[in-house]
Amino acid sequence: MFIKLILFCIGAIFGSFLNVVIYRLPRHESLLFPASHCPQCGEKICWFDNIPILSFFILRRKCRRCKLPIPARYPIVEILSAVLFVIIYYVYGFSYEFLFYTTLSALLLTVTFTDLEKGKIPNCVILTGVILGLYMSLIFWPVNFINSLIAFLAGGGIMIFWAAAGKLLFKKESIGAGDIKLVAMTGIFLGLQNTLLTLFLSFLIATVAGISMIIIKKAQMNSRLPFAPFLTIGALISLMYGNQICAWYFNLMR
Ligand SMILES: [Zn+2]
Repeated sequence: MFIKLILFCIGAIFGSFLNVVIYRLPRHESLLFPASHCPQCGEKICWFDNIPILSFFILRRKCRRCKLPIPARYPIVEILSAVLFVIIYYVYGFSYEFLFYTTLSALLLTVTFTDLEKGKIPNCVILTGVILGLYMSLIFWPVNFINSLIAFLAGGGIMIFWAAAGKLLFKKESIGAGDIKLVAMTGIFLGLQNTLLTLFLSFLIATVAGISMIIIKKAQMNSRLPFAPFLTIGALISLMYGNQICAWYFNLMR
């Protein structure tokens, strides 16, 4: 219990850093300077107003100086990051997988929110993921290195194929370059089997979400849904339950 509480706190602090990345990267601002400040009035945020999750509620969702609302994304990312740290520990304990998958979830959380807010998947997040993933795979988990490379190429390849097919069928771009690179990067962390499962799950969830939004009139036939959030959901399900889902599927097919 104590370890889980510590991991929850570390995850929340990590989430707090991800919030900085999510805000600054698409705006091409430096990640280190200046120190945390209110995006509306520019006031520097003191350490006691910068406690992950808690400060948002203590300050009652408002900046101490200008009283403008703090976006709900701040506590949401911190809570998600904290919860993911605990769940991944619960499933894998302290292992290579823990290191691998907490890194992947941090990368995915970041692009989910940059895609939702700005419609962007920053190249430097992808590049960081590719380098970290290949490096960790080679050093800590060499058995997986070839699998990682195959999944990188296969994931990217399938997305390029879908992008081309979508362009032919619908005469417009349905899958962006950022989506293709993101799937390739995710492949490095997940290996081939779970990458294929992730793609299947994320397209399934995206289709259901898209149709539901058209039905409740939140979207039209031709509006573009950001793909990163769906890929993130698919990848998180796969990294936690992928082996069980695939075992169940192959049993069914026998
Ligand atoms: Zn302010």
